[in-house]
Amino acid sequence: MEAIHKDWTTLAEKALRGQPLTMEEGLSVLEADDNEVLAIMNSAYQVRHHYYGNKVKLNLIINAKSGLCPEDCGYCSQSIVSKATISKYPLLEKSTLLDGARKALEMKVGTYCIVASGKGPTSKELDQLIEAVQEIKSTMPLKICACLGILSEEQAVRLKDAGVDRYNHNLNTSRSRFPRITTTHTYDDRQETVKKAKAAGMSPCSGCIVGMGETNEEIVEMAYALRELEADSIPVNFLNPIPGTPLEHLKELNPRQCLKVLALMRFMNPSKEIRIAGGREVNLRSLQPLGLYAANSIFVGDYLTTSGQEAAEDQRMIEDLGFEIELCAL
Ligand code: SF4
Repeated sequence: MEAIHKDWTTLAEKALRGQPLTMEEGLSVLEADDNEVLAIMNSAYQVRHHYYGNKVKLNLIINAKSGLCPEDCGYCSQSIVSKATISKYPLLEKSTLLDGARKALEMKVGTYCIVASGKGPTSKELDQLIEAVQEIKSTMPLKICACLGILSEEQAVRLKDAGVDRYNHNLNTSRSRFPRITTTHTYDDRQETVKKAKAAGMSPCSGCIVGMGETNEEIVEMAYALRELEADSIPVNFLNPIPGTPLEHLKELNPRQCLKVLALMRFMNPSKEIRIAGGREVNLRSLQPLGLYAANSIFVGDYLTTSGQEAAEDQRMIEDLGFEIELCAL
């Protein structure tokens, strides 16, 4: 049996000093023997604990507009090239968006994530969303994250003025892989939208999808890119290969590898909210709780077009770890 040989605490110390890992150090995490996983997670936990103690932030997604998207993102069941069987509908009524916000409150969720398919919002859609956001913000103690695609500067300012706290637009993958995943918009389009959201005063949220055929070097590059973008919140998705999408043939990741990715993201973005996002249940499987030693945030409830596990199971996981839910925090 291979012995545990490396002192991973040096990476935690480096992260706590605010220094990024080198490419070589990043790769050492991703390529470590599985015997090292607990030691790596222990070091990632030192960093997580320094900034977040044992708190876990909950987020709830509402798919405010489903399918009907002209873009061709290979992982996405809502794209124009997807043949996945999903429900398709235009922007939900305000009353439905408000019902979702009430459900979020009942579930002890801090951030309600309003996500709409499409390249970006039309002005009519933006007007409707703004009305809903204003009502939610004036009646409920919730943070709101909007994820509506590519934004203009003016749209970003309007969302901020309406009370949107955070804006999500994921970089998704490495710059070099991006054109193999999406051809209808660019990596730069995505980066620019995050910058516009930040300039408008919203908290920037941007993350990645791991498991789309990228190399370990590319995963480290993604961690660097997200660090440079200074996103406050980093959702780490693990590809759920949905039948009918161009990436349906890819396999789920092994759960130990997912843990190493989460640890890497924590080392590279020590003070940021690291969220285990889509694909948590199918990729981390029985090791989901260990992910929270690096990450401090999860989605509860369902994802955009796939189901999550029961909220009660998530609550129990957090309780079993001895961790506690952080209410209404960004
Ligand atoms: S990820 Fe967004 S932009 Fe890309 S296809 Fe899906 S809904 Fe459209």
